[in-house]
Amino acid sequence: MTTTGEERERGFDHSEVEPRWQAAWDDADVFRIDDDAEDPEYVLAMFPYTSGSLHMGHVRNYTITDAFARFERMRGESVLHPMGWDSFGLPAENAAEERDTNPRDWTMQCIDSMKAQLTEMGFGYDWEREITTCDPDYYRWNQWLFKRFREEGLVERQAAELNWCPSCETVLADEQVEGEGDEELCWRCDTPIEHREMDQWFFTITDYADELLAELDELDGWPNNVREMQRNWIGKQEGASVAFEIPGYGEVDIFTTRLDTIYGATYFSLAPGHPVAQEIAEENEEVAEYIEMAEAADEDDLDVTSGVFTGEYAENPATGEKIPVYVADYVLTDVGTGALYAVPAHDDRDHEFAEAHGVPIKQVIEPGPEAEVDADEIDVQKEAYTEDGVLDLSAVEGSSRAERSDGVLADSGEFDGLHSEEARDAFVEEFDGENRTEYNLRDWGISRQRYWGTPIPMIRCEDCGHVPVPDEDLPVELPEFVHTTGNPLDAAEEWKHVDCPDCGGDAVRETDTMDTFVDSSWYFLRYTSPDLEDAPFDSERASDWMPVDQYVGGIEHAVMHLLYARFFTKVVNDLDMLEGVREPFTNLTNQGMVLGEDGHKMSKSRGNGVSPQRIIEEYGADTARLFIMEAAQPEKELAWSAEEVQSAHSFLQNVYTLAEEFAAGEIETGDAGTDIADYVAREIDATAARATEEYEQFRFNHALQALRELVSLLRRYQDATTPDADVLERGIIAAAKLLAPVAPHVGEEMWERLGHDGLLAEAGWPSAEAPENYDIERRLVENTREDVRDIVDTVGIEDPTTITLAVAPEWKHRVVDIARDADNVVPAVMQNEDLQRYGEAAADFAKDLAGRAQYDETLSPEGELAALERAAWLIEREFDADVVVRSAEAADDSLAKKAEPGRPAIDIEA
Ligand SMILES: [Zn+2]
Ligand SMILES: [Zn+2]
Repeated sequence: MTTTGEERERGFDHSEVEPRWQAAWDDADVFRIDDDAEDPEYVLAMFPYTSGSLHMGHVRNYTITDAFARFERMRGESVLHPMGWDSFGLPAENAAEERDTNPRDWTMQCIDSMKAQLTEMGFGYDWEREITTCDPDYYRWNQWLFKRFREEGLVERQAAELNWCPSCETVLADEQVEGEGDEELCWRCDTPIEHREMDQWFFTITDYADELLAELDELDGWPNNVREMQRNWIGKQEGASVAFEIPGYGEVDIFTTRLDTIYGATYFSLAPGHPVAQEIAEENEEVAEYIEMAEAADEDDLDVTSGVFTGEYAENPATGEKIPVYVADYVLTDVGTGALYAVPAHDDRDHEFAEAHGVPIKQVIEPGPEAEVDADEIDVQKEAYTEDGVLDLSAVEGSSRAERSDGVLADSGEFDGLHSEEARDAFVEEFDGENRTEYNLRDWGISRQRYWGTPIPMIRCEDCGHVPVPDEDLPVELPEFVHTTGNPLDAAEEWKHVDCPDCGGDAVRETDTMDTFVDSSWYFLRYTSPDLEDAPFDSERASDWMPVDQYVGGIEHAVMHLLYARFFTKVVNDLDMLEGVREPFTNLTNQGMVLGEDGHKMSKSRGNGVSPQRIIEEYGADTARLFIMEAAQPEKELAWSAEEVQSAHSFLQNVYTLAEEFAAGEIETGDAGTDIADYVAREIDATAARATEEYEQFRFNHALQALRELVSLLRRYQDATTPDADVLERGIIAAAKLLAPVAPHVGEEMWERLGHDGLLAEAGWPSAEAPENYDIERRLVENTREDVRDIVDTVGIEDPTTITLAVAPEWKHRVVDIARDADNVVPAVMQNEDLQRYGEAAADFAKDLAGRAQYDETLSPEGELAALERAAWLIEREFDADVVVRSAEAADDSLAKKAEPGRPAIDIEA
């Protein structure tokens, strides 16, 4: 009947097959997209940093976008799926240093080898659109955009703290500082580094803080955790500022979101970097020592109780009370005003600090009427009460402003009973404060003191100040790389000294380069017109092609890259360069990590890494791709498993061999129009429909599971009978197509074996309509098989010979229909005149139904009969018994009466 038992050399040789199809796709320009394409599906992976070789994380990332792009292309979409190189950055300088070469040559080598690897993986990119950020044709537009941003008032000089090596006399990038705390050393000479304030170039991204925050709510194609991380990073706080007087030092502004608690302030805190703290330190050695210690410490070294009393007192404008002033590390210099009043009764951090320093704790807020706790359950001496509530100032001395000097509690509780929210409003006016909105988000410092980046297009003239390089002189190209202790741009004397564009006098170029995040903030726009020579991108096309429909990359970019890209998109929109697009990425997926077989992150030190190269050589790219996509959903972690890689490989060989055998006429075919053929035909359509939906939802592993089930069904079909040639061929074609996005080489190979001209990559996706009532039928068949298994097991039938299935009579369906809508099932059924003639049987069945919570949808009696006849062969194979399917009328009464809609009666003869 079949050839499956024969021993023969079968299968494909990946090392021969894969390069051949890669060349064929290339020859046919399958992945190229015309400039005049209308609003293509834009599928994008975060472009790789040019480190030298791909790792498994890359392979996973790019397999996801490639599979999705191929899926969409087969569905008839035009698809934009480009690739490029994030190729500036310090690692290239380090590599150049170590290898006695220069960053450009090193980077170009990396690109060559990574591009070869991408091709070997079978990823289909439009290489005509390749971009390389270290190419002057690309980075000139960084410079050009910098100038436009500056004209818009979005570029500022601001002071920033930099690392300085006193021995090399140079500024060091953070990555060039080794060690931590006291041990921060210059990477070249091991001299302890110093910090220096210097003016740097900043993009004022804070101008867009509100919009960047507000529009996160609209990005419902993004993971919630990424949106939340951006919200926290932007850190909008609505609050108020109020001044406290510190005698001898003047008024100090505080910022608080809880002005309602001001009566409960029992101490005052300054950040170590606050000017008043610095001033106090000049007179107070203890404070000076603390500040020095705190500034040298790392972020996590000090806990919230770290701080020192200054000996000074601040006057609370609400109570007139003098409260002690501390310098405390937990107050951040750059958040709010760098000063705060502390309310231990109503803030956890303040509470912990107060306990450690023996500061009093004074309650001024009680749970309001809406609260879930009672006032007497609250003990602020033990734990802060941080919820909003109502004010209770009865115990607060001096809560009358008028009488505070003599300490009389006249008119205390003037604000008693106010709700926190009302109090916050009232107190702003009461204490001469002002409403303020603060953000954690800082402006974006883009100056980097390193060579391998985009030169900032500015010139410094003694007379004219900072003068931009004229557009016609762009790009400012990097000078030749030189090995030096400092910044090579500083050492490039000839490059550095220029005439001032304004006055023609002697001037000097800016020697800092741009943060490489500038490069990646708009590269997705450049792909729309990569060779354009008079603008960074073609506005009309970008407006049509953007936003990116599917963006896939690592969670490590949740904040900076994605926030900067959003910022750039909004700015170029405001510059009228992009129409109708203010958000760059509609859908975002963060692929999960690839772990080693030991369940730990792949790393050199653990020796648990798997190189993509090795897998390609041993099993081929398709096996690697299939394993990765089957092992987990894209956003979940994935652990490498040699066994599952092997299983993926066997599956590919198996499905390919099926096509090969069929094409070679080795499978005997014949029986058309049988129940089995009908069953298989319906499964093919249902599988295509299910896989399509799973692909759409990025649940590739589910799609592939459906495919595996289909292939296994086709094999069983072939084992069970002489299959219908048309049905079997249709099944194999569907399998090839559903496989093609993930294992494209094997798919093409099958397609060719089956005698098709043209490429599968360009063939249509299988029609994706599930047969009518498919789900109900599937449930009926599954439940019935389950019931047979139960009976065989429970009764202990060793060798069943005949299994008889009887479907329920039509009247029972009517009973179920009535029960579905009735509050009271039994009377409703018995009142039905048509059903009354079934007498006790109808009453009993109604009683059975009455206890049920829900009624599954069922097929008609004829539908059930047909469905079970189609599926009978599966039961025959499973139990090696004959299967007889009967209508209620044709079955024995004793059997038929046990049948229910959706649950045929079962009789097993042994
Ligand atoms: Zn040094
Ligand atoms: Zn000048």
